[in-house]
Amino acid sequence: ASQQLSKSDTIKLRNKHIGQACQLFYRSDPLKIVRGQGQYMFDEEGTRYLDCINNVAHVGHCHPEVVRAGALQMATISTNNRFLHDELVQCARTLTSKMPAPLSVCFFVNSGSEANDLALRLARNYTKRLDVITLDHAYHGHLQSVMEISPYKFNQPGGEQKPEYVHVAPCPDIYGGQFTDKLHPNADLGALYAQPIADICERQQAKGQGVAAFIAESLQSCGGQILPPAGYFQAAYNAVHRAGGLCIADEVQVGFGRVGSHYWAFETQGVVPDIVSVAKPMGNGHPVGAVVTTPEIAQAFYDTGVAYFNTYGGNPVSCAIANAVMRIIDEEGLQQNAHQLGEYLLRECSQLKQEFECIGDVRGLGLFVGIELVSDREARMPDTKAAHWVVNRMKQLHKVLVSSDGPNDNVIKLKPPMCFNHENADEFLLAFRECLTTLTQEQLQQSAAAAAAAASSAVTTNGVIATAADTLANKTKMFERQDRLIKSV
Ligand code: PMP
Repeated sequence: ASQQLSKSDTIKLRNKHIGQACQLFYRSDPLKIVRGQGQYMFDEEGTRYLDCINNVAHVGHCHPEVVRAGALQMATISTNNRFLHDELVQCARTLTSKMPAPLSVCFFVNSGSEANDLALRLARNYTKRLDVITLDHAYHGHLQSVMEISPYKFNQPGGEQKPEYVHVAPCPDIYGGQFTDKLHPNADLGALYAQPIADICERQQAKGQGVAAFIAESLQSCGGQILPPAGYFQAAYNAVHRAGGLCIADEVQVGFGRVGSHYWAFETQGVVPDIVSVAKPMGNGHPVGAVVTTPEIAQAFYDTGVAYFNTYGGNPVSCAIANAVMRIIDEEGLQQNAHQLGEYLLRECSQLKQEFECIGDVRGLGLFVGIELVSDREARMPDTKAAHWVVNRMKQLHKVLVSSDGPNDNVIKLKPPMCFNHENADEFLLAFRECLTTLTQEQLQQSAAAAAAAASSAVTTNGVIATAADTLANKTKMFERQDRLIKSV
C-alpha cells in the first residue's frame, strides 16, 4: 500500500502536483476520505459521514460483490474488446434488456463524457448534420465536444464561446425558469417549454441545415434537480424528429433505477430516445459507460467504413463490474427502495417547507431530490448564501454530506447511494431541520439588529422595533418548540 500521509501533507502534495482547476469539495476544510462502506464514508480519523452525494457509488461504496467481480476478473484476464468475451456480450444483453425496443445495440466507453461524445458522433453521422440543441444550464461532460453543448460550463465567466452550431433551449424549470407554475398557472408548461425547441428546428430547416440531435438529461441535475413538466419530452422529441434530428437521453446521473418508478428517467416521460448515454452508477466507482442505440443508427456508423476502437471500453473487468452492479440492483430491490424512500423524503421535506419560509420548493423522483432555498418565498428569490451555509453545517456539525447546485447554487441536492435506508433518511432530516432552525434564528437576529440600528439612527419609528421584537419573540417560541421536537426524535 502507498504511504499514509498526514492530512496537511496530502494537501501540500495536492497543491503542488494537481492542477488547481480540479476543485475540492468543501474547499476551506476539505475531507480526506480513506474508506467507504455502503452509504457511509470515513475520514482519516475514522469519523463516519452519511453520504447523500455519491450517485456513483450506486449500490453502495465497496459493495463486496462488485469488488469480488472486479478482482476476480482482474486476476483472470483484462484485455480489449477485439477478443470475444462473455462478460461483454452479457453486459450488453442485460443493459439492452432494460431498454425499450429498438434500443438494442451498445458501444462501451469509459466515462459519461465519452458516452456523450460518441452519442453526438453517431447522431451527426446518421443525420449528416452538425447542429445540436441543448438545454440551458446543462452539463454533458468535460471533452471539447461536450463542453460545447454544456452551458453550465460555457456560461461561466472565462468559459469558452458557444459555437454557432449549438442552440440553447430553456431549461424546463417550472419553479425558477422562464415559464413557471406561478406566472402561468393554467398553461400547458410542457408545451410552452417544448416550443423554443420546435422554433429552433423550424429555423434550422428554413436555413436548409436541420438538426443532428437534441440532447438532454432526462431530469436535469446540474440545472438544479429539475423535473420537466408532463408532456415536455414528448413534444420536444416530436419536433426534433419532424426536423429529421435524433434525440439523445443523457442518463449518466439519473439512470439505473434512481428515479424509483422506472429504471430509466426518460421512461417517466413516456418517450423512447434514439440514443442513450449511461455511465457513473454503472461501474459503482469503476470507470465504465455505454452508448445504447438502434440497429439502424449503429449500421450507419458501421457503413462509414471507419472502425470504432476504444482500448478500455468494454474490457472484461469493466463489464464484470457492470454486470455485478445490474444484478445487485435487481437482487437487492434497490429501485423499489429508491421509490419508497424517495416518497418518504419528499413528504418529509414538504413538511419542512410548511415550517420554514426559507424553503421555496421541494422536488424529486426516487432518490433524486432537490430542495430550493430562497430569501423571499413570494418572489422566489434564490438564497445561495443559505445553501452554502447549510451544506457546510451539515458536514461540520452533523457529518452528513449534501451538495448544492443549480444556476444560482441554491438547491440542496440529494442523490445518495441506493442502499440509503429509512434510518439514513431520518438522520438527514433531523440534521437538516436543525440547520434550518439555526439558519432562520440567525437570519431573524440579523434583521432585528438591522431594524434596531435603523431605529437608533432615528430613521424608523418605534413601531417598527416593536414589530421586529414581537416577531423575534414569536419565532423564538417556535424555535423552542422545534428544539423540543428535535430532541424528542
Ligand atoms: N453527463 C452528465 C449528466 C453528468 O452529470 C456528467 C458528470 N457529472 C457527465 C455527463 C460526464 O461524465 P464523466 O465525468 O464520467 O465524464
